[in-house]
Amino acid sequence: MQVVTVAVPRPLRRLFDYAAGDDGVPSAPGSRVRVPFGGAEVVGVVVGQAEGSEHDLKPIGEVLDETPLLTPDLIELANWLARYYHHPIGGAYATLLPKLARRGAPARATRALVWQPTVEAPPATLARAPAQRRALAMLIEHGGVDDADVAALGVPRRVLNALDGRGLVRGVPLDPTYCVVPGGIELTDEQRSAVAAIDASRGTAVVHLLQGVTGSGKTEVYMRAIERVLEAGQQALVLVPEIALTPQTTRRFRARFGAAATLHSGATDRQRFDAWIDCLSGRHRILIGTRSAVLAPFQNLGIIVVDEEHDPSYKQTEGLTYSARDVAVKRGQLLGIPVVLGSATPCLETLENVRRRRYGVLRLRERPGAAHLPRFSVLDVRGLALREGLAEPLLRRMDRHLAADGQVLVFVNRRGYAPVLVCGDCGWQALCAHCDARLTTHRWPGANGSVQALMVCHHCEERYRLPAACPDCGGERLRLVGVGTQRVEDALAERYPGVPLYRIDRDTTRRTDRLAADLDAIRAGGAAILVGTQMLAKGHHLPDVTLVAVVDADAGFLSADFRAPERTAQLIVQVAGRAGRAGRPGEVWIQTLDPDNGNLRALIDSGYEGFVRTERDIRRAVGMPPFGALAIVRAESRDEAGAVRVLEDVSMRMSPFAVQLAGPSPAFPTRRADRYRYQLLALSERRPELHRALAALTRSPPDAGRARWSIDVDPLGVF
Ligand code: ADP
Ligand code: ZN
Ligand code: ZN
Repeated sequence: MQVVTVAVPRPLRRLFDYAAGDDGVPSAPGSRVRVPFGGAEVVGVVVGQAEGSEHDLKPIGEVLDETPLLTPDLIELANWLARYYHHPIGGAYATLLPKLARRGAPARATRALVWQPTVEAPPATLARAPAQRRALAMLIEHGGVDDADVAALGVPRRVLNALDGRGLVRGVPLDPTYCVVPGGIELTDEQRSAVAAIDASRGTAVVHLLQGVTGSGKTEVYMRAIERVLEAGQQALVLVPEIALTPQTTRRFRARFGAAATLHSGATDRQRFDAWIDCLSGRHRILIGTRSAVLAPFQNLGIIVVDEEHDPSYKQTEGLTYSARDVAVKRGQLLGIPVVLGSATPCLETLENVRRRRYGVLRLRERPGAAHLPRFSVLDVRGLALREGLAEPLLRRMDRHLAADGQVLVFVNRRGYAPVLVCGDCGWQALCAHCDARLTTHRWPGANGSVQALMVCHHCEERYRLPAACPDCGGERLRLVGVGTQRVEDALAERYPGVPLYRIDRDTTRRTDRLAADLDAIRAGGAAILVGTQMLAKGHHLPDVTLVAVVDADAGFLSADFRAPERTAQLIVQVAGRAGRAGRPGEVWIQTLDPDNGNLRALIDSGYEGFVRTERDIRRAVGMPPFGALAIVRAESRDEAGAVRVLEDVSMRMSPFAVQLAGPSPAFPTRRADRYRYQLLALSERRPELHRALAALTRSPPDAGRARWSIDVDPLGVF
């Protein structure tokens, strides 16, 4: 009798055997099958077959896929994910499959449409239909846009249908025809040798770090390397941190290769499954996607590119907490193909892998053509009066840039109006009722030009009315302390009444069409001010920005989280990289109360690499990554003592191993949405030892009661 081993979609740390059906339908590894499980029927994945003689096995039900949905490398990858991240194997397989696949939907792609404009500019007849006009302008700008991206751009279907009715767009079945349109750009010497090195590594499991300053032409290198891969009949996977916020990347790939599929969180379940199936069948040759695209199946993958490899969005923070960058490297190994990690500001782990010669490095030191890197200045604001967070010398500098038709980018690492509301009489602060956290005041334009204010908890999204008086002492001197993007926006609007002002943060970019329109207006040139959060650091090409102001560099450099200085340095270099991209020289001003901060000085005096040298020494001294392997065991519960107790139990179970344990200690914020959160840090000089300790823990887990606990290997931060 044939026995098949099946991964069932349950958070269980084992696989289950079933008797193969006697209907002769093959159930090859990677195929989905319906199997009886715990009184219900579930969709599982066959992961192995054997000859066996056990007679009391339950038979499998229907075989859903004649051709396996998971390729052998993905089966291996699922096993690796479960082992490395100490995640239940059933959950690892469920993470690989798109939602519709988990529900047993047939693996047949529905044909999507590409919407193509039939005119070159919106005609005057659209004057009375602003939504259609905007949508059409966007389609013209992006060329052909497929159903998935139309949704991501926020264009409603009825607007498209209306444009279709007017004959201004047409929907063409998306039948990708891949080709290579010559770029027409002459590569620099550095670019040429990078392309040659990547090309020479085709068919081998090599990792290249492409370390190129912002705007140095990394994307051009990816595209040339991919040309060769496509010519060899293989497929390419390009991971990016954001798709909706950076449509120009997809646009460039489509212009160069005729087509490119996308996979991102804005897509519907159907679109995700379709893109997935088309990559598996080989119909799609290029997939551009965010984090989860690293788990997509391919018929014949030839290269993986991870753009902005340092970006924190590559780390999954819930469930199976994988790092898409690290998974990409693992997949490259399993498939025997090159992986290119690109960044101007690589993370310390990657740089350490270069030092240890596990990864190769390819450098692009200069921007091509006339573009130059910006100059940095540190503005010591001690003793200076700040106007809504901005010091006078900086404002005067802004005057000059704006008068010269330059654009000014103001980076504020916090959204909302002000992060703290405090009573001037007794010191009371507005706190969330469900979290141990302060409330951020936000403002919204109300009816008739009025302004409404609400306090919002950034941890649980609960909203509160602003009190008229202090609830503790009745005092009326309530003060808003600290600055967020809205407050800076208000102050600048008042100072520069005629200058177009754009705010770009998570509140303004919920509608991606608005962001796209704003970015287009900004790129059209002329004096303008951009105020925004780290969203501004995400690879936008803003050629007319000549001054970048970092309002507050201190919070990040002084944070207790071991990764905060690295993240802050990356953000500063990345926002700075928006300046001086065209022929115009750019400059960067950084406001600080701590001008002698070692990290900041190193960054200013010797650039990101100088910062890395300083930061490396600090990490090495304390044995933190990349010099030690780190995991966090987290527990949360409505009952505070329960959360602590689980981790005490965990700590005891891990104590026989050569692992340094710290905690249980409160996470930040300790209480979130009425649940108490604690954590235990486990650090080891030797990664295998850490893994042994974690494996022992999963083999004999703590008695958690009603608390939930989870393991995070290679966590982003320690809070
Ligand atoms: P990065 O990905 O490193 O930020 P891009 O590939 O986006 O850089 O290149 C930045 C700009 O420089 C783009 O407008 C690109 O077209 C241009 N560019 C890239 N390589 C060259 C080159 N060899 N010569 C001229 N311009 C180039
Ligand atoms: Zn008070
Ligand atoms: Zn809250």
